[in-house]
Amino acid sequence: MKKNYDIAVFHGDGIGPEIMAPTVSLLRDLAQTSGYQLAFTDCAAGAAHYAETGDSLPNASMETARQSDAILLSAMGLPSVRYPDGTEISPQIDLRKALNLFAGVRPVRIFPGQKTPLNMPEGREVDFVLIRESTEGLFHTQGCGEVTENEARETLLITRETSELLFKFAFDLARTRKETGRSAGRVTCVDKANVFRAFAFFRELFDAEATRHPDLTSDHAYVDATALWFVQKPWDFDVLVTENMFGDILSDLGAGLMGGLGVAPSADIGLNHAVFQPCHGSAPDIAGQGIANPLAMILSGAMMLEWLGLRHDHAVMAADGVRLRTATEAVIAQGAVLTGDLGGSATTTEAATAVATALRES
Ligand code: ATP
Repeated sequence: MKKNYDIAVFHGDGIGPEIMAPTVSLLRDLAQTSGYQLAFTDCAAGAAHYAETGDSLPNASMETARQSDAILLSAMGLPSVRYPDGTEISPQIDLRKALNLFAGVRPVRIFPGQKTPLNMPEGREVDFVLIRESTEGLFHTQGCGEVTENEARETLLITRETSELLFKFAFDLARTRKETGRSAGRVTCVDKANVFRAFAFFRELFDAEATRHPDLTSDHAYVDATALWFVQKPWDFDVLVTENMFGDILSDLGAGLMGGLGVAPSADIGLNHAVFQPCHGSAPDIAGQGIANPLAMILSGAMMLEWLGLRHDHAVMAADGVRLRTATEAVIAQGAVLTGDLGGSATTTEAATAVATALRES
C-alpha cells in the first residue's frame, strides 16, 4: 500500500488562500498522526496571476497537477480581471477539461438542528449527492459561442462516451452509499427529455447503464420538477445525475438549502485525476478580512482523503476522511462557532480551530 501522496495545491484568488491554509494544516496533522505522507506542492494560477503575468494557468502548474495523486483547489477568479473577450478567468474549468474530470460530485447534507431555509419536518435529515457532468453539456462551447449583431448561439453537446462513464460513476457511487448504510441505493437521471432530443439520448444511455445494476433502483425527473422537489422533499433523493448547466444551477440550490455556499464542498473526478474544491467563488467582497468560512474547503479536503483512501485501498486514510467530515459536520450542527455567512461571528481561524477540536474529541 502506497504511503506517500503528492497533492497539488492551488491557493487561488480572493479568500482562496485564507481557507486553504487551515485546510492544509488539518490534513497535515491527520496524516502525521495516522502515519502516511501528504506532500503539498503549491501551484501558481488564477486571476491575480493572470493580471501579473498574462498567464492564468502556467504549464508548470498544469504539469504538477497532472503528476499529482490529487488536486486541492480553493476559489479562483476575480470579477475585475477578465480575458480580452470579457469572460472571467477560470483555470478550474480548464483543469476539468484538460484532465477529463467528467463527474462533478456535490454532496448536500442537512442534519437536525442545522440552519436551513427549509421547513424541515421533525427528525428529517437530508443526505444526497448531485453529480454534475463537468466537461460538456451547455459548457461545451464556452468561450467560443457565436455572437453576431442580431443572434447569439451556444451548442449543447452530449456524447455517448462521457455519458456512459458518468452513469457508471453514478451507479457505483450509489452502490458504495448503499453498502455503507447511507442510503437505499437509488439513482435519478435529471434531464429535459420531454423537450430536447439530446436529453432523450442522455436518458436512453442512463437506462442502458441502469440495466447493469439490478441491485439498485433508478428513475428519471425533469430538471424543473427537481428544483421544486429540492425545496419540497429533498430527503427523498439519494444520487442524482445530470448535465453540466443543469448541475451548475442545481448545485447552488443545494448549497442554499444547506445554509450557504460556505458549507458546500465538491469534487471533480475523472478516471485518473480529481480536483477537490468548495462550490463557492473567491468572494472578493470579504477577502483579506479573516472572516471567510473555511468549512466548504475543509469538507472538500475530507472528500479528497476518502477518495484517495478508497482508490489506493488505504483504509486508515479513507477513515480519516470520514472523521474530518464528521468533525466538520458536528461544528455546523452545534452552531456555536460559525462565521458571518452562517449567522455567527467567528473568524476563519476560530471556525477551523473548532473543527480541529471536534476532530481531537472524535
Ligand atoms: P463564482 O461565479 O466564481 O462561483 P459567485 O459569483 O458565485 O462566484 P462567490 O464568490 O461564491 O460568488 O460569492 C457569493 C457570495 O457568497 C458573496 O457575498 C460572498 O462573500 C459569499 N461567500 C462565498 N463563499 C464564502 C465563504 N467561504 N465564506 C463566507 N462568505 C462566502
